[in-house]
Amino acid sequence: MKPYDDLCANADGFFETVLSRRRDDMLCASGCDGCCQVQLSVCAVEADAVRRALGSLDAKTKSALRLKADALAESGATSDPAPPCVMLDADGRCAVYEGRPLVCRTHGLPLMYADAPDVPVDALTASAERLLVWCDLNFTKRPPERADVLDGDRLNGALALVNRAFAESATEGSADAPARFSLVALVQNVC
Ligand code: SF4
Repeated sequence: MKPYDDLCANADGFFETVLSRRRDDMLCASGCDGCCQVQLSVCAVEADAVRRALGSLDAKTKSALRLKADALAESGATSDPAPPCVMLDADGRCAVYEGRPLVCRTHGLPLMYADAPDVPVDALTASAERLLVWCDLNFTKRPPERADVLDGDRLNGALALVNRAFAESATEGSADAPARFSLVALVQNVC
């Protein structure tokens, strides 16, 4: 887990640096759950971290999560807009915050991609080769500067490398293991 922990620490560090520099123009704070209205799936190394975070929760929290996960699994969680993430509590906080997936550590930052066809057009600022996306609650006074932007492709590439090494050395690397793990399924497995 060390390489993954380092990757998470780097993402957290970048977020904190941008937040401290642009605090007057970023509304990210505990209790803001705008980025958590999603149904996420994660790769094997992230799933391992989420499982460990779930395992450390108390019985009451696990039970509440299990109820939500079962309801989401039954409904198919395919409504539009997507229902809130199974990990989100009533106060807008993440039940597995310390073990949350890598993408969650970038919530609120401007992310740059070579191509982002699934991102809503009104959330994009297009440049010649790259696309930028960020929460529309942030950077309303002044657009992000280059130093504020996280390269989403590079981050995903680093995660893929870390995950490959993890999967080759863990049970998730076996031939019949899924490549992605939904957070709902992880809750059902652990709680
Ligand atoms: S795992 Fe936590 S931070 Fe990520 S979307 Fe779900 S509630 Fe939000």
